[in-house]
Amino acid sequence: MVEQAATRVLTCIQCGKCTGSCPESGKTPFNVRMLVRKKQFQSAIDEALPWYCTSCGACTIRCPRDVKPSEVIIELRAKLVEDGDIPVALQKALENTFVQKNPWGRSRNKRADWAQKLDFEVPHVSETESKRLLFVCCIQAYDPRCMVIPVNVARLFNAGGLEFGILGEEEACCGNEIRRIGEAGLFEELEEENKAAFEEYGVKEIVTLSPHCMNVLKKEYGDMGIKVVHYTELLAPLVEEGAIKLPGSFGKKVIYHDPCFLGKQNGVFDEPRAILGAVPDLELLEFSRSREMSLCCEGGGGRMFFEVEATYQRNADVRVLDAVSRGAEIIATACPFCVMTLEDPATEKGLAVKELSEILTEVL
Ligand code: SF4
Ligand code: SF4
Repeated sequence: MVEQAATRVLTCIQCGKCTGSCPESGKTPFNVRMLVRKKQFQSAIDEALPWYCTSCGACTIRCPRDVKPSEVIIELRAKLVEDGDIPVALQKALENTFVQKNPWGRSRNKRADWAQKLDFEVPHVSETESKRLLFVCCIQAYDPRCMVIPVNVARLFNAGGLEFGILGEEEACCGNEIRRIGEAGLFEELEEENKAAFEEYGVKEIVTLSPHCMNVLKKEYGDMGIKVVHYTELLAPLVEEGAIKLPGSFGKKVIYHDPCFLGKQNGVFDEPRAILGAVPDLELLEFSRSREMSLCCEGGGGRMFFEVEATYQRNADVRVLDAVSRGAEIIATACPFCVMTLEDPATEKGLAVKELSEILTEVL
């Protein structure tokens, strides 16, 4: 694995496409091309630099030599983790995940508390016929702002007659961010624990609420023989074909923000737009940078758990100003990380941020 990475960096031609596509370049001291160069020559790096990366994946998509610069950053971080050169807040998130299987250290036996807000019981996945698992995600299981998302999606699935179950407190953090922070050992533990539960209960399909969970379960857990989808991929045909009736009227201008892990990294661009297109009296707008070119919100790659030391205009502020200039009243997205990073700057400018399931629930 290490040799492979070393070989990959040797093929770098220093074209700079990675830095050109990087949402952190120019405004911060971070320069991914320069870090790849230093890795080529095994030179020392400033240990503060790798933590700027948001793991958006743009560099890896654009690189003409398949160097995978975003993976090079993870390798640089892994060395820093090994040496203990890691921001305190990230160290805390890792320790919490080790103990309670979520980065905030919230009690594991409260992981399914969100389901108490429903007026029907959500079964354990082992009790379902379909063996379709709703994988909830740490943010949506515990964060007061995002706990409404699994509640909404459960209601929508129920309305569409889609059977599903959960793992409850047996669900562990998916590890997408943990791997990107550079803690490969902890990631492997989480992977093994989740895979053991999937196997024990005969899970046949996993529906994730967070694109970050979808990414890691689909692409980094190895071949589990289990279909993994984002919930928008299941909901889009249900709302388009009328299996879920949307009798309300929304009456607002909505601009859709493509999450990096859903859009550019996993190609899910059309389903969220199809869902919004099916909402009555909703005017759908587009950002000047959308789909593959969507601007990262800066919430990924561990950046949800700590602030980098720099004074610069945050991408979330840029995004909100673009939304305002386009006449949007609401920024819609399909990722809890994006909800969390966009909401404060949007509120300051008088805009609301809504996860897609919140919009659908309003017209249900
Ligand atoms: S895009 Fe790829 S080849 Fe070009 S500088 Fe970056 S890592 Fe090197
Ligand atoms: S993953 Fe995104 S933020 Fe990280 S180096 Fe690549 S382009 Fe920059």
